[in-house]
Amino acid sequence: MKPEEVVALVKEKGIQFIDMKFNDLPGLWQHFTIPAGELTDEVFREGLGFDGSSIRGFQEIQESDMILIPDPDTAIVDPICSVPTLSLICDIYDPITKEPYTRDPRFVAKKAESYLKESGIADTSYWGPEMEFFIFDDVRFDQTVHCGYYFVDSIEGEWNTGREEKPNLGYKPRYKEGYFPVPPHDSLHDLRSEIVLAMLEIGNGIEVHHHEVASGGQGEIDMKFDTLTKMADKCMKYKYIVKNIARRHNKVATFMPKPLFQDNGSGMHTHQSLWKDGTNLFFDPDGYAQISQTAKYYIGGLLEHAPALMAFCAPTTNSYKRLVPGFEAPVNLTYSSRNRSAAIRIPMYSNNPKSKRIEFRPPDCTCNPYLAFAAMLMAGLDGIEREIDPGEPIEKNIYKLEGPEAHKVKTVPGSLEEALIALEQDHDFLLKGNVFTADLLDVWIRYKREREIDAIKLRPHPYEFHLYFDL
Ligand code: GLU
Ligand code: MG
Ligand code: MG
Repeated sequence: MKPEEVVALVKEKGIQFIDMKFNDLPGLWQHFTIPAGELTDEVFREGLGFDGSSIRGFQEIQESDMILIPDPDTAIVDPICSVPTLSLICDIYDPITKEPYTRDPRFVAKKAESYLKESGIADTSYWGPEMEFFIFDDVRFDQTVHCGYYFVDSIEGEWNTGREEKPNLGYKPRYKEGYFPVPPHDSLHDLRSEIVLAMLEIGNGIEVHHHEVASGGQGEIDMKFDTLTKMADKCMKYKYIVKNIARRHNKVATFMPKPLFQDNGSGMHTHQSLWKDGTNLFFDPDGYAQISQTAKYYIGGLLEHAPALMAFCAPTTNSYKRLVPGFEAPVNLTYSSRNRSAAIRIPMYSNNPKSKRIEFRPPDCTCNPYLAFAAMLMAGLDGIEREIDPGEPIEKNIYKLEGPEAHKVKTVPGSLEEALIALEQDHDFLLKGNVFTADLLDVWIRYKREREIDAIKLRPHPYEFHLYFDL
């Protein structure tokens, strides 16, 4: 869409407000809103100002002025606002240099797509994230995390976040048996359908929605695949709609990877493939699981760089409570067809060359999708450029491997701290083509250490009360 077409759309649809949206560094949408009459062609050229120093991971106070330039192709009528509002996703620029801002996650995603084209390896990458989430009736936090409901539930292992599902727990699925009986077990069916309708309305194409494996309230809605930046935009719309429609029903949605002890967590398995001149480069009818040598090298890159990648793909301390054996989340850095215990699965649902792709399973929805997709693409491309051999696939249930066989398989990092150390040691593949900058890596690592890892280390954990209170 051209800027003048957006301005015409505003008039045609009786739009009263324009909502300008962009990402902060950890990956939460931010916004401000202008009356519809303020949207002129000039806004698309000159942008509108905001205070970059109040946004997580952005500017220092002495350099806080930044501008947003809306991307006209992202115009949608916001399905959440009750006053007619047009939503625009924006790119961030420096008002002095007029250069795109190197810490803008969307700029990183666009640079990764340009790098792919310039490499000559492929012209397009397709992305299909499977975003999982929980919908709770209520979540009670004792903010001081000292005692009370939160604490009692965590030691029982039954309702460990203070999950409240009263008054009727009849037909609640048993642990790990939520996949996928019909209602009344699937009590969120209508709610998911309503979410899907809102997604369809704004052009987030959907293939399927279903209850997930966890005991109750875990859902998944799968989007049709799209190109990298567009899919990251769609992930942001997805979370916005899920959270807001849950809220409309007095419920609360969370994308936190492991909200419940001893039940399945929520992942964001990411399907990906590379295409050139309309041909899927990952397909070879004679290859293992019908994948090509190019796909194997791509897998080699993802596996070799996986520990560093986790700093962007599973970027929270809670991510590592999900990445443990026994819950369909991957732990082992290997690949396999159909095997859900491996970090990379090659789906075998179809023989159609167009649908051949690989599924990288470690990511979760606490990632910033622009940065996570860009990082995965750069790792895979490094694999192709350096012809990294991924070794032999493993067909067994890797959770159950024993002895020397088990020791040969590398595993994902055990904590966010380990992932950040891996990123410090292995990041040249991200810096290629200036896709990620040294400054961005530095601020990411610092932010994660200071604001998340250290902040958590300083606070007494509820389970410490269980272990130590009476000593
Ligand atoms: N919830 C699982 C995970 O954390 C995945 C379940 C599935 O295979 O879709 O990765
Ligand atoms: Mg799933
Ligand atoms: Mg999957």
